[in-house]
Amino acid sequence: MNPIVVLGSGLAGYTLVRELRKLNGDIPITLVTRDSGDYYSKPTLSNAFAQKKEAANLVLTSARAMAEQQKFTLLSNTEVRAIRRDDKQLDTTSGAIEYENLVLAIGADPIRIPLQGDAEVFSVNDLSDYARFRDKLNGAKSVAIMGGGLIGCEFANDLALAGYKVSVIDPGPYPIASLLPEQAGRRLMEPLKDLGVTWHFGKAAERADATGQGYTLTLTDQSTVSADIVLSAVGLRPRTQLAKDAGLSVSRGISVDERLQSSDKSIFALGDCAEINGRTMPYVLPIMHAARALAKVLSGEVAKVTFPYMPVVVKTPAHPIAVLPVGRDAAGSWKVLEEGQGIKMGFFNPEGGMTGFALTGEYAKERSEMTARCTA
Ligand SMILES: Cc1cc2nc3c(=O)[nH]c(=O)nc-3n(C[C@H](O)[C@H](O)[C@H](O)COP(=O)(O)OP(=O)(O)OC[C@H]3O[C@@H](n4cnc5c(N)ncnc54)[C@H](O)[C@@H]3O)c2cc1C
Repeated sequence: MNPIVVLGSGLAGYTLVRELRKLNGDIPITLVTRDSGDYYSKPTLSNAFAQKKEAANLVLTSARAMAEQQKFTLLSNTEVRAIRRDDKQLDTTSGAIEYENLVLAIGADPIRIPLQGDAEVFSVNDLSDYARFRDKLNGAKSVAIMGGGLIGCEFANDLALAGYKVSVIDPGPYPIASLLPEQAGRRLMEPLKDLGVTWHFGKAAERADATGQGYTLTLTDQSTVSADIVLSAVGLRPRTQLAKDAGLSVSRGISVDERLQSSDKSIFALGDCAEINGRTMPYVLPIMHAARALAKVLSGEVAKVTFPYMPVVVKTPAHPIAVLPVGRDAAGSWKVLEEGQGIKMGFFNPEGGMTGFALTGEYAKERSEMTARCTA
């Protein structure tokens, strides 16, 4: 019998393998990944600089140990170039591989916005990016971060704690504007400013010109920012090309239903590359739920993924935040529930039910209680 082939050794690929093994000790599994396959937790990438961690210290389990523990065939440093659906075969840099069922857990690429000039722009989306960026930080004093969203703010907090002078540049009006209401987002500004972060909202970086050791960035309002290093954190785009080339249905991500099944009944997708019933959910908790459901589906059970309320925790220790975001078109409005060393806000639908929340500072620890209120 041909194996289940899992493509990708990130959180999605490895969580699925673990869940599959819990249900079925014998089913043959092959895991193909273009990186080393070493297991790490990606969220640690944005709070490891202050702890002075090397990339190697972030590895939780080596690829070889994972393969032994979970009994799968590992093909690391192997890139899949094409999916030949008619033959249920993959073209890889290590030769052809046949599959019974194929799972795409291939993640997302950092979005690159064009910047004129000669800057080397970094992004940190995996262990090797982290290693390169960390290496570059040696001897540097200042970092300009393009993007004041969740990841940009986490890096700003971490790098400022590590002693770097940080500038955050974002065309939006305030931090983490895609997830937080304005009153909550603005609460982050002062505590990070106190750590040495300078905010540049309402403008984007247009160009970066080399000046001795670092760069001068020119923003859209012609103001300038100096920094030794430029880090881009403007978002991620699901990796869909492989699926698109194979003729699978693709929208923003690889389109799958609540069984995580694509438009080909032998091919499934989860994690940052997937769009589940029209929603991309590039966070740890949805991946866990999707992996559990997909393991059942691949083991022949009747199953589908359902998502409970899943708050997002923002790792900004200078001012902690937890948010249960609401869709852009959700009917209702935000209300302030309490204010102190932070703010507690709820999103209420027209019937008066709470369907989202934003908790900052001293209120961030109330997320379980607020989730329970939403569920009720
Ligand atoms: C800095 C940072 C901090 C974060 N913090 C949080 C947080 O605090 N909380 C939270 O919930 N979420 C957080 N996230 C999001 C979360 O980490 C991701 O949603 C999750 O790790 C994605 O896992 P994945 O397996 O889908 O993708 P990835 O981890 O990107 O894995 C993709 C895998 O596919 C492989 N691959 C890709 N293409 C090919 C190919 N053609 N052939 C072979 N292999 C291929 C890659 O080598 C890799 O192994 C954070 C993300 C970042 C970047």
